Amino acid sequence: MLTRLLSRQYKTLHRIVFPPKCLVCDRFFHPPECHTAVVAEGVGCKQDPAPLSLQSRLDRLLSVCLCQTCIRGLVAVESPICDCCGIPFQGRQGAGHRCGECITQPKYFRIARAPLIYEQILTRVIHCFKYKGKVQLAEPLAELLLTAFKMFWENDRIDIILPVPLHIKRFRKRGFNQAHLLVRNWNILAGQHPNRLVEFQIERNLLVRTVATAPQTALGRTQRAVNIENAFDLNDPHKVKDKRVLLIDDVYTTGATVNECARLLLNCGARDVDVLTLARAV
Ligand SMILES: [Zn+2]
Ligand SMILES: [Zn+2]
Repeated sequence: MLTRLLSRQYKTLHRIVFPPKCLVCDRFFHPPECHTAVVAEGVGCKQDPAPLSLQSRLDRLLSVCLCQTCIRGLVAVESPICDCCGIPFQGRQGAGHRCGECITQPKYFRIARAPLIYEQILTRVIHCFKYKGKVQLAEPLAELLLTAFKMFWENDRIDIILPVPLHIKRFRKRGFNQAHLLVRNWNILAGQHPNRLVEFQIERNLLVRTVATAPQTALGRTQRAVNIENAFDLNDPHKVKDKRVLLIDDVYTTGATVNECARLLLNCGARDVDVLTLARAV
């Protein structure tokens, strides 16, 4: 008890003397006391009874890395959305229908969902995470994604989770696969909740990228689909037979990458394929 008290006082003093720097805007800031305690100790905050809303999670999880101004600049995906690809509709069209693109070019995946819009601040957060090696973002972003999973899938069963892989050359250069980091600790994170019943089956090496494709960022919609065609393979196709698969990636831009993965998985006998990404380009 005394050790815990001293440890907390030390952390408070440390934060006053050495305030963290916001990863997005580079300014020093003072994280709210309660938020750091939650992240550091993995326990509930007394002032905030931990509701499972995305906004409260954003605030709690990211307030150790980002200042409040940047956190408030993040934009959540809000209904109504296309019931297939998840793109938010402009205006007040009702939910329960598909966007023009999903009608004219049906997707191989069943649904794609993301908690946040891929705009200015989130672009910088993901850039820090992927290219500047700020892997301290992995845990809060993974927990955020797990919250989104619970929100969108509710009681829907998923049998197997596959992070979208990098080609081995890019993996070696970067040192990690960001999609895997976003899901790697889900069993540990979910284990902290008392009503946890099933364990996620996360397969890191089942889906592989066999072709070192050109980066998708510089390409248009059609070129992206062509570029990524036949770029993936499965190490053990039997593992996905009749399974409900969830693909994980950091950003959904045109959906070409996850759609290609879904095509392969369905060809190998998967029952259906869903997609969850952290960000959704609009
Ligand atoms: Zn900031
Ligand atoms: Zn759509």
